[in-house]
Amino acid sequence: MMTHVSDILHCQKCPRFGWDLYHKKGIHEKYFHMIAPFSALWKKYLKVEDAVSGQTGDSNADTLKKMADCDVIVFARFSYRECRTQIPVLIKKEKGYHAIYPYLNCNPKDTETLRMKLDERIALTQGISILSHEIVYINKDYVRSDDLEVEKLFERGSKFFNRRNNPAKDIQECLDAMDIDLDAMINETLGILQGEQPSLKRNKTCTAGRRCLYYDECFHDQDLPDDSIVFLTTSQHKLNAFEQGCVHIRDMEPSLLEGYRLQYAQYMASLNGCFLDKVALSHWIDSVQYPISYLDFEWDTFGVPPYKGMKPFDVLCFQYSLHIEEEDHTLRHTDFFGTRDCRKDFIESLIDSLPNEGSILVYNMEGAEKLRLIQLGNQFPEYKDQLNTICDRMIDLSKPFETGVYYDNRMRGHYSLKSVLPVFTDEVSYQQLAIHDGLNAVSAYRTFEEADPSQKKKIRQDIRNYCRMDTYAEYVVFHGLKKKLKEEEDA
Ligand code: SF4
Repeated sequence: MMTHVSDILHCQKCPRFGWDLYHKKGIHEKYFHMIAPFSALWKKYLKVEDAVSGQTGDSNADTLKKMADCDVIVFARFSYRECRTQIPVLIKKEKGYHAIYPYLNCNPKDTETLRMKLDERIALTQGISILSHEIVYINKDYVRSDDLEVEKLFERGSKFFNRRNNPAKDIQECLDAMDIDLDAMINETLGILQGEQPSLKRNKTCTAGRRCLYYDECFHDQDLPDDSIVFLTTSQHKLNAFEQGCVHIRDMEPSLLEGYRLQYAQYMASLNGCFLDKVALSHWIDSVQYPISYLDFEWDTFGVPPYKGMKPFDVLCFQYSLHIEEEDHTLRHTDFFGTRDCRKDFIESLIDSLPNEGSILVYNMEGAEKLRLIQLGNQFPEYKDQLNTICDRMIDLSKPFETGVYYDNRMRGHYSLKSVLPVFTDEVSYQQLAIHDGLNAVSAYRTFEEADPSQKKKIRQDIRNYCRMDTYAEYVVFHGLKKKLKEEEDA
């Protein structure tokens, strides 16, 4: 069995994760939309476009032969025993080699040390001594001009970034401080990959940052009760409690609760089915003024800015949906769908469609819609004031859920719009739609340009239907909250 350094890294993270990735090999949608292959960009930046390149299937002898003929090689392939690796750039120096690792992020951390160390050791088995390392990463402050300027897009350095995203730890010192037993790591990885699928153990890796892509397969949370201890939010102790047989949130030892408001709401809901803070909810609902605009955007995230004025990892909004509810409760809908550089059309359409007064209800706006409008205001200063005014009128519909003002066990520890909607209705559901989540919408959007006219029509309609459902769901949830409050006050 042949493995790769990445298999070692995956198995170190979680044996089950490493095993699943090796044996299942699914196709996973890329998180960032790229306008060109990343390697083409960093090769241009490093001026190594014409360098000799390793190829799939190169043996050690092939690589060494290529290296004998040149000073720079990209994608140099080495193997040792049952483990292969590929080093992005190697440059011959007087006494050894200098390695360069490009990253599609702005702040590579010292968690990369192990990969470099493994590469260094494997190369050394073939007599290639890597004496120094450097990273190439994205300059977070780069603003694109008419053309993409790779010399400004990238930065390079010899230090990893710390938690505060400042360059702090010298790469070579990190590598020198790390000692590994390469044979033992290969043996351990082979043992995992050649064995049966490893048994499960819930651990922080499962949900740290982005949820593990195998989480649903691993844990079948749908079989747990609605108020399972597993759904207790921001709890240090829930996994221990779960392993020791604690089933419901109400069974948790109260002294082990950190005491956040949402945890309190979950605990009370576990006792009573749901929790509602009447005073806080009434105050929040009173802040919402008619006409009410229910607003939602869809966007794609670009690792490298595709258009003038955009920065790395900026998003491009290609769709909005807007339901407007007048004081007499009539409801109307409008939307926008654009392709390519539709930013200006998006802004103008939005300003035109929104009523001049009333509240704009948005779900989870701070990291999303509000941020998008601030970015658009920076890219198009002529609209900045109008966009800031829109931001000032926004009210976050997720707040009553996020802050534990209202909690229903059926939310199962989540407060996304999709988790909250079934609490208030079973008449509409995202499952009825061709596109039923944001990632599906982005995947469909990415296929739009290459599609034929009839496919384009369908993609456009499917995305519009999905986004329309989001703003209709906001309408249903807002009125659901009002109804719950009234029932509570009348009780
Ligand atoms: S969900 Fe957790 S246990 Fe399952 S593969 Fe991912 S990290 Fe491992």
